[in-house]
Amino acid sequence: MQTTNRLFMVIPCYNEQEVLPETSKRLLAKYNDLIGKGVITSDSRIVFVNDGSKDNTWEIIEKLHNENPIFQGIKLSRNRGHQNALLSGLMTVKDICDVSISMDADLQDDINAIDEMLEKFNEGKDIVFGVRSRRTTDTFFKRFTAEGYYKLMNRMGADIVFNHADFRLMSSKALNMLAEFGEVNLFLRGIVPMIGLDTDIVYYERSERFAGESKYPLFKMLSFAFEGITSLSTKPIRFIAELGVFIFIVSIVVLIYSLVRYFTGHTIPGWTTTVLSVWAIGGLTMISLGVIGEYIGKIYLETKNRPRYIIGKYLCDESDKETISLTDVKFEK
Ligand code: UDP
Ligand code: MG
Repeated sequence: MQTTNRLFMVIPCYNEQEVLPETSKRLLAKYNDLIGKGVITSDSRIVFVNDGSKDNTWEIIEKLHNENPIFQGIKLSRNRGHQNALLSGLMTVKDICDVSISMDADLQDDINAIDEMLEKFNEGKDIVFGVRSRRTTDTFFKRFTAEGYYKLMNRMGADIVFNHADFRLMSSKALNMLAEFGEVNLFLRGIVPMIGLDTDIVYYERSERFAGESKYPLFKMLSFAFEGITSLSTKPIRFIAELGVFIFIVSIVVLIYSLVRYFTGHTIPGWTTTVLSVWAIGGLTMISLGVIGEYIGKIYLETKNRPRYIIGKYLCDESDKETISLTDVKFEK
């Protein structure tokens, strides 16, 4: 038996004026198709989250909403980054939808995978990860760094799904469980697998960005990777302790060596090793302090418990406002 569910898609947008008209057109066609087939209800919605864009993204969203209420818009008070933008959207719709799908605005994710995701949902899965089957459209460099990143993350103890970005189906139940994870240093890709529940995977081919530029240049990508590791795992700290033990053992060997040299009358040579070890130990100490500092910084942010995002405006259905205001999302209607 086929059930009809209310689907909310959540799409974070930062300076996406070039792609939004096309994205909205394709999503609308997909929705009309799904509604026609009776897979989703006619009051299913597409929510664009404007993450403090500097271009006309918000104006485009407002226009879309005015033309067709199937499009909704959430306006964050300022730029909070991809993860927080996505989270704000998911948390806003968690009680008014049956099921949500998150996707990037740039059409890199295959819209046609949505059908299969919904099929899995109807089979009883609460979370369905969209996973890239190939990365042929990415440059060699992007592919190499991205795949290396997933492997590194797993070795560092973060249980993330290989080649899965943020194209994902989550049921209302899963979203409500996600709401329990109150951390400020939020890395959705690592947190969602921790929820548990019944999960599945849908493979799709990732295409090129439709228009505009990637909001993740190399430096931002590296910082995102580092954030991901330090917010999910404490293995790097353990590694530092292990390194300390190792260096201590090495220093005992060096001590024995110097004593032997001393008693055999070779005390003058050794300048090279002294200088080298001073630099090496100095460098290691600084790296170690840096890593520990990174964790302390995270603790600092968590203790302040600041809101992860502030919603300035939500363009939604009148009939949903009451349900939304019952949730922990604060917004000015
Ligand atoms: N994005 C966002 N806030 C930001 C940066 C990016 O909401 O500060 C959105 C962006 O609009 C897009 C998604 O996050 O929908 C992924 O960004 P992008 O496609 O540039 O990343 P890439 O695919 O190159 O990793
Ligand atoms: Mg992209």
